[in-house]
Amino acid sequence: MKLINPEHAPPSDAQKRKSEKPVVCYPINSLPDNNLEALKAVKKKSRKVSELVVNPRQAGCIEIPKGCFFKIVSVEGPQVGDLNLWNLHDQNEKFFAGKTRALHGTHLSTGDRLWSNFPYLRPMATIVDDTLDWYKFDEFGTSVHDVIGTRCDPYTEKMLSGLDYHHCCHSNLTKAFGSYLKIDKTLAETLIHDVLNVFMCTGFSGETGQYIMKASPVRPGDFLEFYAEIDLLAGLSACPGGDCSVKHSSDIAQCYPLLIEVWDPGEVVRKKHIEPEVNSYQHEI
Ligand SMILES: [Zn+2]
Repeated sequence: MKLINPEHAPPSDAQKRKSEKPVVCYPINSLPDNNLEALKAVKKKSRKVSELVVNPRQAGCIEIPKGCFFKIVSVEGPQVGDLNLWNLHDQNEKFFAGKTRALHGTHLSTGDRLWSNFPYLRPMATIVDDTLDWYKFDEFGTSVHDVIGTRCDPYTEKMLSGLDYHHCCHSNLTKAFGSYLKIDKTLAETLIHDVLNVFMCTGFSGETGQYIMKASPVRPGDFLEFYAEIDLLAGLSACPGGDCSVKHSSDIAQCYPLLIEVWDPGEVVRKKHIEPEVNSYQHEI
C-alpha cells in the first residue's frame, strides 16, 4: 500500500522521473484473430442444450464442449460470481487470471480471451457478448468483470476477522469441484485458482492502490457470454457478498442465484472449430 504521507522527500528531478511516458507491457496485436464476428454469426444459430442454477453462497460445475457457447446470467437480483475454468480432460490446465490481466487489462469484456496457465498458455474461452459493456470505467476508476481480485477465501477472513466462515467462493468452488470429479477435498483445493469476478465492480484506490469494490450495476437479464475454445469444465460460485456493495465472506449480504446456460451451434458447425494449440515454447536442452 502506498503511504499517503511518504517518509522520504522527493529528489530534485522527481517531476522528470514521474513524467516518463509508460508503454503497454504486452502489446497484443500479434495474437491470432479472435474471429469475433464469425463467432457472433455462429451464436445466432445456437440452441440451449443445458443449464445450471447456482444457488446463493454455493457453487456448481458444468461441462461445456469446445465450439459451444455458455453464458452466465443474472436472475432475481444483483449478484456477482467467481468463475474457474479447467480443461475438462486435464484439470492441471486451468484459467490464468494473472496473465489474462497482463494481456487484456484489469477488467474483461467482449473480444477478450481467457488464457490457461503455463506451460499451456492458450485461449480457453473468448468473450462474445457482455450486456454491461456500456459501463466502461466510472468516476472512481472501477469497472466490471475483473481479473484483479482473486476470490474471497476463509484463510484471509480468518486472518483479518478471526472468524471461521465456510461459504467463501474459494470453499464453495472447492466443494463443488471436488464432488463433481469425486476427488478428495484436499486435492480439489489445490486446483482452485484465481477467478474472473463476473459482474463484480472493482478497481484500485487512486490514493493507496488498495483493491476496492462497490455495488454491482448488474440487473436480472444481464449476462456475460463466452465461446469455449477447448472442452471446458466451468465452476461458478454465487459469492456470499451478493452485489459486493458492503461486505463479502459473511452471511450479511442479500444474495441471489446465478444461471449458466450452454448453447450449441450444432455438430456440423462445432466440428469446424479448430482447437488452439498449447504454447509451442521449447525448453533449453
Ligand atoms: Zn466471493
